[in-house]
Amino acid sequence: MRSALPLLVLLPLGACADAAYQVPVVSPAAQAAASAEIQQGQAPVRRPLTDEQAKEAIARVARRLAPAGSAVCQDLGRQCAWRFVYDPSQELNAAATGEGDIIVQRGTAEYARNDDQMAFVIAHEMAHHAANHVRSTNTRAQLGAALGGVLASVIGSYAGLQADGLVQGAAGIGSQLAVISYSKAQEREADAIGATILHEAGYDVGEAREMLVALGRLSGQTRTSLLSTHPAGPDRVASFDAAVADMRAVNWQLSPQGVGRSVTPK
Ligand SMILES: [Zn+2]
Repeated sequence: MRSALPLLVLLPLGACADAAYQVPVVSPAAQAAASAEIQQGQAPVRRPLTDEQAKEAIARVARRLAPAGSAVCQDLGRQCAWRFVYDPSQELNAAATGEGDIIVQRGTAEYARNDDQMAFVIAHEMAHHAANHVRSTNTRAQLGAALGGVLASVIGSYAGLQADGLVQGAAGIGSQLAVISYSKAQEREADAIGATILHEAGYDVGEAREMLVALGRLSGQTRTSLLSTHPAGPDRVASFDAAVADMRAVNWQLSPQGVGRSVTPK
C-alpha cells in the first residue's frame, strides 16, 4: 500500500513506458470526500434532442476541440487527424477507434448540461488517441479493425457531411466499440490529458469535473455503456482533481518527456 503522503506524487515517466502522463496517487480522504459529493446530489436527467439538434451541438464542440486536440497530440509526439462520427443512440457514450475516429452517441448531448460538459466526454476520447491507448493492445486493434469496416461503409455513404466536421453514423456503432475497455490507469490518464485539451480549447475544466461527478451519480441508477467501459466513481473524480492541480502547477505543459518538462512552451 502506497503511503497517502505526500498527496501529489509525480512518478517518473520511466515507471511506465506507455504512459504520457501518470496521474498522481490520491489519498483515501480525497476519495471519501468525492464519494460524499457524488452521493449528495441528483443524477442528471436526459433532455431529449432531435438528431439535428444533437448533431449540431456535437459538431460545434468537435470543431472547437479539434485544433486543441491536435496541439496536445503534437506535444506528446503524435500526429492526430480527427474524424467525428455521430451515433443516434440515446446513450451517454463515446468511443475512440482507428487512427483518429471518435464516435459520439446522441445521449452525450442529451445528458450534458452545457458544451463544456459535452466537450469533456469528447476530449477524453481524443486523449485516448493522443496517448496511443487505442492501439496499445492486440485485442483492441483487432476489434478496431473489424469495426473499421463497418465505419468505413457508413462514412463512405455520408461523405458529404464531413465538411461539417461530423459524419452520420449508424445507431449502435458506439456501443459496439464500447466493449473495448481500457485499464484504470489509462482512463485516469485520458481524463488528465482530456482536461489539457479542454483548457487548450478554452472550455471550463470545472464543468468537466461536474460531468465526472454526474457520471458517478448516473452509475448508481442507469445502465449506460459509457459507465461500464469508463467506470466513474469517487476515485476517478479525486484523480481528476489531483491531475488538474498538477497540470495547473506546470501551466498545462505536456511533453513526450512527461508533464512539466516541455522545453518548447507554446
Ligand atoms: Zn476512456
